[in-house]
Amino acid sequence: MTNSCIFCKIVSNEVKANILYRDEQVTAFRDTHPVAPTHILIVPNKHIESVNTLEPEDESLVGHLFIVARNIAEAEGISKGGYRLVTNTGSNGGQTVFHLHLHLIGGQRMRYPMG
Ligand code: 5GP
Ligand code: ZN
Repeated sequence: MTNSCIFCKIVSNEVKANILYRDEQVTAFRDTHPVAPTHILIVPNKHIESVNTLEPEDESLVGHLFIVARNIAEAEGISKGGYRLVTNTGSNGGQTVFHLHLHLIGGQRMRYPMG
């Protein structure tokens, strides 16, 4: 838990969020500024700043983030149509909240290429 981190506060229920899923490793909640009909964030419960600071012991946790994202996509009914998973890393990557998170974005045709 990092005192000033908004996602740590959501994980610990200090700040309210529209939480869809929670287990001992991860929490998933709706983004407050959705960029598509479905926009959900999946975050590790422990504070990890970004992909840059992942440790070898986080390997299974990262895999679990993807499995949970896949399950939520199914529950949201966007699996068949397809969706996008994004992890912005650092300022050039567009990261604004420095607690690792996976964006699950779908419900519409995504624009591509990104950049
Ligand atoms: P990033 O830009 O770091 O990849 O993504 C951060 C995301 O967190 C943004 O899409 C932003 O809308 C979302 N966000 C920021 N603050 C909050 C918050 O307090 N609650 C929720 N649910 N989402 C937030
Ligand atoms: Zn945090």
